[in-house]
Amino acid sequence: MSRANGRFAAVFFDLDGTLVSERMGVREARAAVGARLIEFGLYRKPAPAFADTVEMVIGGIMEDNDWQWPLWLHAEEWMKRSLAVEEITVSDDEFRELNQVYRDERSDRAEAIRDWPEALAAARTHGPIGLITNFNDGSMQREKIRGAGLEGQFDGIYISGEVGVWKPEPGIFEHAANDLGVDPGECVHIGNNIQSDVEGALSAGMKAVLVEEDDRPRPASLNGDVAWCEDLQAVADWLLAGS
Ligand SMILES: [Mg+2]
Repeated sequence: MSRANGRFAAVFFDLDGTLVSERMGVREARAAVGARLIEFGLYRKPAPAFADTVEMVIGGIMEDNDWQWPLWLHAEEWMKRSLAVEEITVSDDEFRELNQVYRDERSDRAEAIRDWPEALAAARTHGPIGLITNFNDGSMQREKIRGAGLEGQFDGIYISGEVGVWKPEPGIFEHAANDLGVDPGECVHIGNNIQSDVEGALSAGMKAVLVEEDDRPRPASLNGDVAWCEDLQAVADWLLAGS
């Protein structure tokens, strides 16, 4: 594998909050499900009330799981539970349509974060580019990648729900590096979450870059091993810097 820049054998990126922004999209997509229920004549509250119910249902499940998102919690699952809480009965066809509304809204609202072309172009000067993302529904995450206009940008896409291992476990980083034929110790992972992205990458022997979303405490223990970048332009600059 030729390395024009030479510093890294491959560069890996996280997706949500790093390359793609959709914070508003999640709630709006759940409200869109409520709007479709109203169209079906099955819901008498305002559409956003359904988003509130979904948040309550998911919050309860997360609380029971030490605030981790359980692998089995697909959209279909919280949809079913939220409908039960609202005491709404839907046909199989209606249920399929509600799920499609949610998926379409999510992928339509996914937006690539400013300066992503610069960051990916800078990554290209090193070698192949991989995407490592924690998400249980692989097909939905791929729709989001398409919706954000990032399709075709990666040499490998590694989604935890498909690989069966979640960040910060080193296994998913090792799997991704193996798949691209590189040594994890010669790679860097760029993400916005201290635990899943930074600690995970370090545990697999990769270098780590934290793209900061906001002001938050920086664990002193990580300072020596982690590059802190304020946005994707800073990531591009860091990737292009000499060493
Ligand atoms: Mg993220």
